[in-house]
Amino acid sequence: MKKITVLGATGSIGVNTLDVLARQQANEWQVYALTAFGQVAKLAEQCLAHRPAYAWVGSAEKAQELTQLLRSQGSKTEVLHSPADLCRLCDAPEVDAVMAAIVGAAGLPPSLAAAQAGKRLLLANKEALVVGGDLFMQAVRDNGAQLLPIDSEHSAIFQSLPDDPARWQTDVEKIILTASGGPFRQRNPKTLGQVTPEEAVAHPNWVMGRKISVDSATMMNKALEVIEAHYLFGFAPEQIEVIIHPQSVIHSMVQYRDTSVVAQLGTPDMRVPIALGLSWPGRTSSGAAPLDFKALQAMSFEEADALRFPGLQLAWAALRGEAGSTCVLNAANEVAVDAFLKRQLPFDQIYRVNAATLGGLQPGRISHIEDLLALDQEARAFALGQIAAAVTQAA
Ligand code: NAD
Ligand code: MG
Repeated sequence: MKKITVLGATGSIGVNTLDVLARQQANEWQVYALTAFGQVAKLAEQCLAHRPAYAWVGSAEKAQELTQLLRSQGSKTEVLHSPADLCRLCDAPEVDAVMAAIVGAAGLPPSLAAAQAGKRLLLANKEALVVGGDLFMQAVRDNGAQLLPIDSEHSAIFQSLPDDPARWQTDVEKIILTASGGPFRQRNPKTLGQVTPEEAVAHPNWVMGRKISVDSATMMNKALEVIEAHYLFGFAPEQIEVIIHPQSVIHSMVQYRDTSVVAQLGTPDMRVPIALGLSWPGRTSSGAAPLDFKALQAMSFEEADALRFPGLQLAWAALRGEAGSTCVLNAANEVAVDAFLKRQLPFDQIYRVNAATLGGLQPGRISHIEDLLALDQEARAFALGQIAAAVTQAA
């Protein structure tokens, strides 16, 4: 039996992963560890259903709470809580695969630990790659890890590219990421300042965590995905394009030198890329409903409006900037989205904070992951300063 650690088990991707695992043959996968930051009751339920050897939570108090809950139900799952333990649950010799589904840069250390230990790494946590960049990919290559993208667009591109990575540079003209356009695709851009967190997290096609839902509304999610695609597949920034496709049926496309376009299609259900990550190079059941072409009325495409979605362009600005720029952009965005969700920053100011931080902070020399972690902290402090200034100005 293969063993898997699911990071961020209580989140949207984590829950979908456990659903797909439950659909596999009983002797195929064993859950080695489940982790969550808080959400103790939900994690306890998952532990009782999947019987992992270990569970991890973000503090000693939560660990005590979880242990009590588990013991009262007769569960033997051992509960851990230190940052070092989180990494150990990813690089332990018994572990075959890790699902990286923590949200934000907080997921970088355990994802990197899995890469450094040469595991199969199912990467949903795009921020880890946006922060880690080339150093992260170097760790994957140096240690023979198998990096399988879980982000639906990157899974689609992975499936549409030639099997032989040596052909990616010779045969491909460009890759085209599709974007739904989120909840504000048709909203008057002048009213974006009044958007509430409730409106921003209500995505038309996908049910996701709060942070990625806000990112989809600003299209910063697509900006992070452009950066993610660059690091994952090695294409130059000019070879990566974005097109709005509101139905989310085509999950992304590859255009070849001869103009042929190869795409991957399906219903919008994250269990499809998750199932592929588990079964690759084979295929297994995902639980998703198949696409019904007869019911599909139309597929449409439109250009992303730069006035409505100014954040999208920051991807190319960061990729053309110095090493570490994508880390700076990600940190600013995490801080700005958090402030927006706490109703401290208007929706349309997220872009301003991101652009000001990207333009205002010099990354310095980046040789190690530790340099990036320090830069991440510096960029967060800078972005917080920008938010404070924006709030003072508005008052
Ligand atoms: P979510 O908010 O629903 O879940 C996040 C999980 O991470 C939770 O289990 C939470 O407890 C845990 N977590 C949060 N902060 C943590 C910390 N500091 N330390 C340890 N654990 C922490 O998020 P989600 O929607 O499942 O997204 C997870 C990741 O997958 C994100 O990077 C997102 O961009 C990516 N992703 C999600 C989707 C989707 O459909 N939800 C699609 C593509 C990519
Ligand atoms: Mg995506």
